[in-house]
Parts: sequence; C-alpha cells; structure tokens
Amino acid sequence: MRIIHISAECYPVAKAGGLGDVVGALPAYQNQKGHQAMVIMPKYDKEWIDDHLLSLEHSSRFIMGDKIYSYHIYKEVNDTLGFELFFVDIPGLLDRTGVYVDPSSGYSYWDEFERFLAFQIAAVDWLNSWHLKPDVVHCHDHHTGLIPFMMNHTFTYQNLRTIPSVLTIHNGQYQGNFEKGKAFFLPNHEPHMSGLLQWENKLNQLASAIKCAWAVTTVSPTYLKELSFSAKGLEPLLKQEQPKLHGILNGIDLRVWDPRIDPMLVQNYDFKTVKEGKLANKTYLAKRYNLDPTKPLVSFIGRLVGEKGADLLPDLIRSVLYKRNDINFIVLGTGDPMQEQTLDAMNASFPGRFKAILKYDESLAHKIYAGSDALLMPSRVEPCGLNQMYALRYGTIPIVRRVGGLNDTVIDFSLKGGTGVHFDNFSLYDAENAINRMMILFSQPKKCADLIKRAMKVDHSWERSADEYIHLYQSLNKS
Ligand code: ADP
Repeated sequence: MRIIHISAECYPVAKAGGLGDVVGALPAYQNQKGHQAMVIMPKYDKEWIDDHLLSLEHSSRFIMGDKIYSYHIYKEVNDTLGFELFFVDIPGLLDRTGVYVDPSSGYSYWDEFERFLAFQIAAVDWLNSWHLKPDVVHCHDHHTGLIPFMMNHTFTYQNLRTIPSVLTIHNGQYQGNFEKGKAFFLPNHEPHMSGLLQWENKLNQLASAIKCAWAVTTVSPTYLKELSFSAKGLEPLLKQEQPKLHGILNGIDLRVWDPRIDPMLVQNYDFKTVKEGKLANKTYLAKRYNLDPTKPLVSFIGRLVGEKGADLLPDLIRSVLYKRNDINFIVLGTGDPMQEQTLDAMNASFPGRFKAILKYDESLAHKIYAGSDALLMPSRVEPCGLNQMYALRYGTIPIVRRVGGLNDTVIDFSLKGGTGVHFDNFSLYDAENAINRMMILFSQPKKCADLIKRAMKVDHSWERSADEYIHLYQSLNKS
C-alpha cells in the first residue's frame, strides 16, 4: 500500500514528544512489511535538515485567505530514516527553529493557525497533483486535522475524495481551537459543509478531523475508553462517531531504543549483562549530578505539565526524602515555569539526593532510562506513554498511575507476569505508597532481578501495531 503520513513532528528531525517518536518509526516498520510509507512534514529551520541532502521535487502556489503563497516540496535524498521523507517549505511561515513554541519567547507563535493551515494546504495541493494517488492519507493530531475536510469538501481538491483518510489522536487535550471566522483562510468549500469545521461555535481542527476522517485511532485502547467520558468537550462527538474509532497501541522503535546498541549510553547491555550495564550508566549519572550510586535511583522524564502529574512531583519527592535516606531522584523536563522554579529550588534543599535538570536533552534521557532503577509516571492523563515502554526495555521498573496506555503496557508486580508498580488514585498518598512498594521489591534481589529480565523481554516493538494499522487501511480501501 502507498501510505502518506502527514505530521508536524518526526524524530530525529523535529520532536516535541511522543508524536515525533511515533512518526519517526511507524512508517519504517510499515515499509519493512513491504508497503510504501512516507512522511510529509514542515521544513523547519533545523540542524538535521541542514545536515542532509535534499532534492527539489515540486514547486507551486496556493491561496490562503486573500494571499497567494509559494511552496516547495523537498525530498531527503538518501531515505536515511527508512522511509521517504518530504518537507514542505513555505518561506516566512515554516522555516523557523521552533515546532510549536517560539524559543525566544517561550510562547506559541502568534500565527500558529495560519502557519499550520498553510502546511496542510500545501500538502494537499501537492497530493492533488499526483497521477498515482495514495491508498491512504494518515493525519496525526490537530495540526493536520483540517486535511480530511479539505480532501472531502473543497472544490479544488475534489479529486482526493475517494482516498481514505485516517486521523490518529495522540493527545485529545490539544484540539487546535480558533475563532470560527478563521474558516475564511481555507480553500473554497461547500458553504453548507462549514459545520464540519466547528465544535461548540469554534473552528476546532481535531473535531473536524474526527468528523471527516474515514477512521480515527487513539494511541491505546484504554485511552479510547477514557475519551468517551473525558475528552475536553468532545465526548458527544466521539460517541456519535464511535463506529469508526479504534484503539491501537503505540510501539517503540528498536532501532533507537535498545540498550544493546544505543550509542547514547555509557555502556550497552542486554538482559544477561543488565546489572553491570545499568550500574555503569548509573555511576555516570551519580558522578555528574553528585548522587550516591549505591542507592536506588528513581527518575521522571517528561513535560512538566498537569497531564503528566508534574505538579505532584515536588511534594512527593520532598515527602519521600524527608522520611527516607536510601533513595535518590532525578527529574529531567521542561514545561510549566512554576514547576521548573519549584524543582530548581529543590536542587539546593536536597544536595546529593535530588537533581532536577530543566532542559530538553535527548542523549541524557537515554542515559537516565538506562541508569535509573525506576521511572516514575504519576500521569493524570496518558494517551499511550512511550517512557514506560522505554523503561521496560532498559530494565527500569516503571511506577505508573493506572491510566490510559500505562494501564495497557505495565502489569503490577503483585500479578502474574508483573513488570512494574501500579497505583490508582492521583494522590500523594498513593504515589508514595507505590514508591515504598518498589523499595520493598528492591530489598528482594532475586525477585527484582526476575522482574527486570521479564520487563526487558516484553515485546512492545512496532511489529504488531504496524500490522493493526495496515489492516485498518485495508478495510477502508474495501469499503
Ligand atoms: P508526550 O505526551 O510528551 O508526547 P510520551 O511519553 O508519548 O509523552 O513521549 C515523550 C517523549 O519525549 C519520550 O521520548 C521522552 O523520552 C521524551 N522527552 C520528554 N521530555 C524530555 C526531555 N526533557 N529531554 C529529553 N527527552 C524528553
């Protein structure tokens, strides 16, 4: 099948979170299965793009509102990522360093809507010029959410109406809500169809994609269930569109996330050498951040936002550190400035026992997955979560709140086949109790070693989920 993924992120070109990881991996796994998957993304001002050879494939123009924009499509010549990667270049709009956020202000770009709409129109305009049409157009999150509408209901692109479109909701919290007058910027469409762009009197890109895409997927089965009662206002819409919803669990990219070959680690290891390998990585972290390598190290990696439960971290870590002297913590993250400040201040309060590193650092994240004994994920909402799957692979015990994809990927160690530690309520008490349960587990070396080996052998690779997507695309092509 000819599969077109359209996304704002793709690792390692541009990544803000799990979306980047997914789009950087899924197409390669689909290609390994004999399909022809490719990715279309914006041509940002990124080092990766400068460092790779590109060829100009197509140039044209489109109208957005009352302006005409030129765009160019470039292809990465060597297919370095295991799939064809195309960049949409719109000078003045997309060629910026930030993906969503302007690094100089820390806030979203003022023309966020126009910027990503231009990207979407250019992508659709280019697809419209193809002689051989693709079998499916797969859109990811709200930044590509207007594409199914444009393919189905605009006059210029009516040739695309017969191509199935799929939306994957990586995070339903972010919907791309704007004043409904912004519809003026879209290509000409049937006026009676403009309701398909709206939800609750706003132009809502995610809602539009849920209405117009032929199928909608969420990144885990449990998240699909959770969205039916907690989707930031989209619950009735999801109920209405229920027959076309599917929960397909994300996988992990074993070309990038495998402790046996990961070039970012201080020492590589497999399940036979896990003890020494983890210790070498932990010793590196302990030296760098003045921690004690003989104590269990519990880490958090992620966006410091309410969704991830980042606001629980300061009180939780303080509470544990006040009560016990046999544990160390590392936090790696960026996000809410208040959270960053609080965690930064804690660096001075708990020297040698706690370290907050408030930046985005891919290489350090890999070392932390490898060097930690446990990874804490007290999420309020977790559509899938990749961190816990990386942790399992690196022999690091995930301590997770039983929500969304965390529920689908981690089994509590009290149960048969257990791979981690669960807690249910979003509370200091439950989270602290989970850490204490993990400490009891650590005091039983044989049980702990068995659990680590089991965790490392869990297969969360893309192999299985890539097939699920293919079956979905095939069913749409039959309908
Ligand atoms: P999200 O909701 O942020 O997309 P996921 O668990 O799906 O959450 O994916 C998060 C991805 O971002 C993981 O690859 C994680 O390692 C990475 N990540 C998050 N914050 C940081 C950081 N500060 N430094 C390095 N990597 C990070």
